[in-house]
Amino acid sequence: MTTRVGVYPGTFDPITNGHADIILRAVKIVDRLIVGVARNAGKGPMFTTDERVEIVREELKHLDPEAAKRIDVRPFDNLLMHFAIEVGASVIIRGLRAVSDFEYEFQMAGMNNRLNPNIETVFLMASDKYQFISSRFVKEIGQLGGDVSHFVSARVAARLAERFALASKSAVKP
Ligand code: ADP
Repeated sequence: MTTRVGVYPGTFDPITNGHADIILRAVKIVDRLIVGVARNAGKGPMFTTDERVEIVREELKHLDPEAAKRIDVRPFDNLLMHFAIEVGASVIIRGLRAVSDFEYEFQMAGMNNRLNPNIETVFLMASDKYQFISSRFVKEIGQLGGDVSHFVSARVAARLAERFALASKSAVKP
C-alpha cells in the first residue's frame, strides 16, 4: 500500500483559524500532511521562519493531537515543486477563499502543473466562518489594538500581542 503525502504550503504569518481548518480537513484526505512554511522573505513576514514553524506545531498539538501525529511542519525556501518532490508528496493542498484567491491560485496551479504534471493541486474551499480571515488583516487589526480573537487562537493572539508590545517599545515616536 502506498502512503499518500500532501503538502500544504503557505507563509503562515501567523497561522489563523482559516489555515488550521484547512490543515485539519486536508489531513483527512492524505495519509501524511507536510505543512510547508515558506521563508518568503519577499513578503516581509512579522515572525521569523522558525517562529512560524513553532507556532504552527504548537497549534496542531492543541487542536488535534491525534491528527498531529500524521502532520509534519517544515520550513522551506526552495521552489514549491522541488520541496513537494523532496518530501515525496503527490498532492499540493491549497485553501480557496471566495473570489479573491481564485486568479492567483489558478495561475499557480497551472504553472505548477507544467513544472510537474505528476503532482496535483487540490483546493479545499474555505469554510464559511473562516472565509474572510487573512493573516495580513489579522496583523493590521492587531497592530491597531483591535480584537483578533475571532480569527486566531488565544495562543496566537498572545504571540501577536507580545510582538506588537515589543514593536511599540522600540518604535521611535515622530
Ligand atoms: P501565501 O503566502 O501562499 O499567501 P498564506 O499563509 O496566506 O500563504 O496561505 C496559505 C494557503 O492558505 C493559501 O492557499 C491560502 O489561500 C489559504 N488560506 C489563507 N487563509 C485562509 C482561510 N481563511 N481559509 C481558507 N484558506 C485560507
